[in-house]
Amino acid sequence: MKLIQVYKADLLNGEGLRDVYFFSGCNHQCQGCFNKETWDYDMPNAKEWTDDDFEKMIESASKPYISGITLTGGDPLFWKNQSDILKLCKEFKERLPEKTIWLYTGYTFESIMFSSDLKPLILRYVDVLCDGPFIESLKSPNKPWVGSSNQRVIDVKNSKIGDIKLLYTDYEDTTHIQKTCSCCQDS
Ligand code: SF4
Repeated sequence: MKLIQVYKADLLNGEGLRDVYFFSGCNHQCQGCFNKETWDYDMPNAKEWTDDDFEKMIESASKPYISGITLTGGDPLFWKNQSDILKLCKEFKERLPEKTIWLYTGYTFESIMFSSDLKPLILRYVDVLCDGPFIESLKSPNKPWVGSSNQRVIDVKNSKIGDIKLLYTDYEDTTHIQKTCSCCQDS
């Protein structure tokens, strides 16, 4: 797995102050994606994720004012990232169970749950999933934390296939929070 960059104590990629980790690799090819360079797993600025990076992640997220981490990209669930993301999420929750994990992906919740790879196991450790591809024709400036109206902000722990709990159902009053999703910001 390769890390592109980290935003520390960020306000724009989930609730509270969060440390945001961008990983390379994505095969969704959403039209209008503002982060096309991250599709390439071996993009020039991406560096191999190490145990030292994980310890730094824990140290930073331990600060009382940090709500948790946000994993984005690229797509953290890109096939080459899955085993390392699973390890990261599992060990993060073991060390800091009170902190939350938000994860942005181009996969839908349903496709993840029906998948036969590691994606459903990863979801066991994720608190909030911002799911689905960015669809340019559905671009939605009013929906918090995501970029298009098809994308959902899902309370993973309380959701299952056919009964998905959204964090935001009435988002007309939350336009101040976020205008685009983390993987396709243009403002
Ligand atoms: S918008 Fe996100 S999921 Fe879609 S291609 Fe770009 S990085 Fe991948």
